[in-house]
Formats: sequence, structure tokens, C-alpha cells
Amino acid sequence: MSSIKQQFKVRLPWAIDLFRSIRGSIRAQYYKLFFRQKPSFVCPICNYKGPFANYNTLYTAIKHTQCPKCELYERHRLQFLVFSALEKQYNFSNMSMLHFAPETLFKKYFKSKLLKYHTADLESSEVNYRTDICKLPLADCCYDIVFASHVLGPVSKLSQPDKT
Ligand SMILES: [Zn+2]
Repeated sequence: MSSIKQQFKVRLPWAIDLFRSIRGSIRAQYYKLFFRQKPSFVCPICNYKGPFANYNTLYTAIKHTQCPKCELYERHRLQFLVFSALEKQYNFSNMSMLHFAPETLFKKYFKSKLLKYHTADLESSEVNYRTDICKLPLADCCYDIVFASHVLGPVSKLSQPDKT
């Protein structure tokens, strides 16, 4: 916990949320104005409607993938829609969840829906459990739901056998 950004996150979490909200609103208006010739999409998470951002790397480009307002990707929108559909079948207000590598926007959402919500991460100190997903310090069946997204890459790297 040494960087200025981490100190800011811990001491003024509302300021981070406010900054993200303002940045997202500005970015959304920018996309609507300057990319209005692109196809329009709806984000079920933040209700933005308009063109989405592409994700570009050195080797590939994925078109229309990131919502410019909440900055989340299609996997997040799918997770949100699945969770919303499941919410119609299950009473989450009586359930507990352990959320690995928690996404900031999902933290508030899950916390508001569940009776007990805890977070875990291998590296972040802003979680309830700073732990390796392969070596959990928890008893079996102590949570109703375990939510882990986008962690298989790091886990498979950690699970590699030693080559020494
Ligand atoms: Zn969005």
C-alpha cells in the first residue's frame, strides 16, 4: 500500500467513484458525438445507448466491445444479464457470495443484492481475503455463490509445475 493511487482509493473511495462517473459521462458523450456513424448498442449495466469502443492490441482488434460510460466489456454485460436472470429464480437476499478479483462496479451491485458479500484476490489489499484461489483458507460450503471471472489465466500460470 504505497502508491498515491492506492492511498487515494482507501481514504477517499467516494472520490474515485465520482471521478469514474464523471469520466464515463464525458466519454459517453464524446462517443455519441464523434462516432455516431458507428452501430449503436445498449449497455444493460449502466443503460448507456450508443456506439461502443473497440479494443485494440498490437495483434488484434475487437470491434464494439467496451461501453464508453462504465468501461466494462461484453463478458461483464453477459455476467450481469445472467445474474439478473438468476435473481428472478433465487432469493439472493438470503445468500452469501465470495467474489474473486472483484470488479469495482460489480462490488456495489452484489453487495446490495446479497446478505453476505466478501471479496478475495491474490494481489489486492482492498479485499476481505488476500489469498490464492488454489489455496483457500476457508472451509468447504461456507458461501452459497463463488464468483470468479477472468482469473483462469493467472491460475493456470500459478499451477504450472516447477521446471527446476
Ligand atoms: Zn455501460
